[in-house]
Amino acid sequence: VLDRHHHDGTRLMQILREIQEQLGWLAPETLTSVAATVGWPRARVEGTADFYSFFHTRPMGRYRVLWSDNITDRMLGNTDLMDAMCKKLWLEPGRVSEDGLVSVDTTSCTGMCDQGPALLVNYRAITRMTPSRVDDMIELIRKEAPVAEWPAAWFAVEDNIRRKGILLDHGLVPGQALAAALERGPEKMLAEIKDAKLRGRGGAGFGTGLKWEACRNAAGHGAGAAHYVVCNADEGEPGTFKDRVLLTSHADLVFEGMSIAGLVVGAKKGLLYLRGEYRYLLEPLESALAARREAKLLGSNILGTPFEFDIEIHLGAGAYICGEESALIESLEGKPGRPRIRPPFPVTHGYLDQPTTVNNVETLAAACLIATHGSAWYLRHGTEKSSGSKILSVSGDCERPGIYEYPYGVTVRQVLDDCGAWNPQAVQVSGPSGICLAEAEFGRRIAFEDIPTAGAFMAFDETRDMFEVARNFAHFFAHESCGFCTPCRVGTTLVRNLMDKIARNHGSPYDINELFKLHRLMQGASHCGLGNSACNPMFDTLNKFRPAYERRLMSLNYEPAFDLDAALSQARQMTGRDDDAAHFSAHLQKEAEA
Ligand code: SF4
Repeated sequence: VLDRHHHDGTRLMQILREIQEQLGWLAPETLTSVAATVGWPRARVEGTADFYSFFHTRPMGRYRVLWSDNITDRMLGNTDLMDAMCKKLWLEPGRVSEDGLVSVDTTSCTGMCDQGPALLVNYRAITRMTPSRVDDMIELIRKEAPVAEWPAAWFAVEDNIRRKGILLDHGLVPGQALAAALERGPEKMLAEIKDAKLRGRGGAGFGTGLKWEACRNAAGHGAGAAHYVVCNADEGEPGTFKDRVLLTSHADLVFEGMSIAGLVVGAKKGLLYLRGEYRYLLEPLESALAARREAKLLGSNILGTPFEFDIEIHLGAGAYICGEESALIESLEGKPGRPRIRPPFPVTHGYLDQPTTVNNVETLAAACLIATHGSAWYLRHGTEKSSGSKILSVSGDCERPGIYEYPYGVTVRQVLDDCGAWNPQAVQVSGPSGICLAEAEFGRRIAFEDIPTAGAFMAFDETRDMFEVARNFAHFFAHESCGFCTPCRVGTTLVRNLMDKIARNHGSPYDINELFKLHRLMQGASHCGLGNSACNPMFDTLNKFRPAYERRLMSLNYEPAFDLDAALSQARQMTGRDDDAAHFSAHLQKEAEA
């Protein structure tokens, strides 16, 4: 493995993943030997191995089962299925079975919300879990059947494309958009992207032309001076899965968009960062790249011109924060995915400190349409401030979950009608960090000037408890905080604990005020978008669905969430004491008497 990666520490993520796939886990001696071979301090290698939830530095069993735990999986009954699996395997969630065979746990959203409940087994996705599938899986695990021999139908991931627009119905053949871009040349291609007012589809909506221009104009640094194109395929926002479909059925369009970006910014190398949950796509994508090399659409002398460009795929390892572009670059360099302090921005100092443009999968695919049809044609779709189309990942309480492409400007109501969401009480747009809309807002539009979104669209009908929706999101953020800055690291945990306390009917109005205080604090003091937006679900649901909280507030007085006396039980056990003085309650009573 190390030879294949040229003993290059910046490829540490790939090295660790491949070793783990062979050996089952990353033993201390493995990390020591990897560190020695790549010439990095061992602590640095261990720091990366410990950061990502898909790397494990202790054995987790020959079968590692991770249940997707997005709110949509919950709505489809993942908790009962996982409990049944654990019971039948005589296992506690998070623990390895005594014979070291299997472990069962939860993971954040796996991007299969349209076909859940889903899980990963040894990091391969299985969709549409049912009680009988749980039983069959347990049997195979007990028989120690290799995962490669499990029924292929279990691993089927459907596209579920329900509505096509200009992108999903592009009709382009491989090379067509790239040939048009090469004919135009880099300057004119850049002008066309700017004229088309293409904006990033990852959520922030930054002008793609401006980004490419800044990267193109930035000088490379030092001996390794170069420009890079990075495709952000780390769609970790719960409820988002449209990049999965683009990469499954339109990979050529994405690779071609990367090549066009390379032509414009002057890059020879592109890196596609694929989320670890989409491990099953790695081989098909590698094959698609090989076919493009064969067709002279990648490599040198592309389509008979001097243009040179190639693409590598890097696999993530289960860290939502790597969707943030600077954290993604850190991860590409083999480090823990912690957001960088900016400026400098990636367009001037990105991958390996070189000018780098990071673009979303959908943005790069859309660039192909502009290269082929021109900016005037592109501007005819969408609204004045939001040109083109948007692909939505629709899930939750609806008859037809899946992928829907609309021109920008479509109303939320229209999407709900199209997907068969009857009696919706709320829609969460853009995942937990986005916005929760109540019925009065269903006339609002999906567009940068109204509701910008990376694509997640989760519908909740009248039977759903919006407090539980927000609580699931609070757990998600507490799990995914990278821990770099205190307001987010501590704040997300405090919010999760407060939500759990309210769920146990121990909350009071004091706790609600505390949630608002934490929202203000984290919004103002967190280092990156995760911390800034982590309280959005509580803020929205408190404002729009307050009764869901109030019916749980059983007391007007403050109740501590922490039982000090219970917490001291372990210390009592260790010291062999159980007398009055070893109990906090007795101590309080004495004080009161005094
Ligand atoms: Fe990490 Fe949260 Fe700070 Fe972002 S806000 S850097 S996720 S701790």
